[in-house]
Amino acid sequence: MQTVDVIIIGAGLSGLYAATLLQQNGLSYQLYEASTHLGGRLRSSPATATVPGIDLGAAWFWPHQSKVPALLTQLGLGHFSQYVAGDALYQTAPDTPAERFAGMPGLSYRVAGGTAAIPAALAARLDPSQLHLGHPITQLQRTPNGWQVAGDTANPQDTYHGHHLLLAAPPRVLLQRTNLAALLSPPLQRALRQQQTWMAAQAKFVASYEQAFWREAGLAGQVFSRIGPMTEIHDASAAEDAGFALFGFIGVPAAQRSQISPDALRQGCLQQLAQLFGPAAAQASATYLQDWATEAWLCTDDDLTEARRHPDINLKPYAAELNELRLSFAATEVAQQEAGYIEGALYAVEQAVAAITQSPP
Ligand SMILES: Cc1cc2nc3c(=O)[nH]c(=O)nc-3n(C[C@H](O)[C@H](O)[C@H](O)COP(=O)(O)OP(=O)(O)OC[C@H]3O[C@@H](n4cnc5c(N)ncnc54)[C@H](O)[C@@H]3O)c2cc1C
Repeated sequence: MQTVDVIIIGAGLSGLYAATLLQQNGLSYQLYEASTHLGGRLRSSPATATVPGIDLGAAWFWPHQSKVPALLTQLGLGHFSQYVAGDALYQTAPDTPAERFAGMPGLSYRVAGGTAAIPAALAARLDPSQLHLGHPITQLQRTPNGWQVAGDTANPQDTYHGHHLLLAAPPRVLLQRTNLAALLSPPLQRALRQQQTWMAAQAKFVASYEQAFWREAGLAGQVFSRIGPMTEIHDASAAEDAGFALFGFIGVPAAQRSQISPDALRQGCLQQLAQLFGPAAAQASATYLQDWATEAWLCTDDDLTEARRHPDINLKPYAAELNELRLSFAATEVAQQEAGYIEGALYAVEQAVAAITQSPP
């Protein structure tokens, strides 16, 4: 079995970006991803000939963020402004028409073709023989030369060796699904356990349409609702003027959602859209219900019950411990800036890879 410089765990944005930077620095790596697809929390609906991917996870980046647009340029991907022209709606009671008010123009951007285009473009520039999908890693073991990692099977073929271990998955997920905790000092364990996996307990409903009938009615597609099931709705069109869609964050908490059938939830969401935007909204060409809370490699029990709270950890006090272990964390949750966001994932990776390349394995 070949020993690589760096074993990477997780093929979300962080893991794939880390692989890209390691490759650029001439370091060898192998990347293991638990699920059968790339991208983690960056996921889009399957693109068709006429409709590019619509975001089912992360959707926006903002004007103050610089790393995301720089990466998009590097990857040859475009972006466009979130559609906000027109009025917004406020739904306060089930039987009363929603109140119409001047929409909130806050500027944000979307990735052309959906945010999943980013991991896809990164992966396309990597050697496919180094990317291993459907490889959950649960056993982490220190060796004199670095690390040996494996899945749950005792098959020696599924044991991998690296001089350095880069953990590009949410800290809580790693603590819950691997033996990581046993390898860390109690203060570092505690600090990592406190970092909520950003947005992991959320669910999104997306409906796509042939026409943007809400735009034609002078509406932005923006809704705030006290009724639900969706509490916040936005225009989710896949491009500036194509792939028309609306999406909403489902306000039903994860524990309650798990008691409702997906079909009933879909129907409830479509009915709400029809109530807000008229009968055309019930005639969606496709619908998607993405419940992130059900994804075992992205959401933990602890994430399900807490109020939404930004991750905020300073790993500097643990630098000596991590150095000694030849271990780095690189998911967005550990970023020193913009933690939780796509931008944060890029910050976290650049810092982790800079530390590895300064003292190469
Ligand atoms: C509904 C939702 C909306 C969001 N909206 C926005 C937004 O609008 N703007 C924004 O900036 N951010 C948003 N985010 C956050 C954004 O998605 C994340 O910041 C970003 O995708 C994190 O990337 P990551 O690679 O660090 O982690 P992840 O995407 O979580 O990737 C981690 C990967 O590790 C894998 N993994 C975990 N454990 C193991 C293991 N033991 N072995 C192997 N593989 C493992 C997982 O399967 C996953 O693929 C949103 C997130 C969600 C869920």
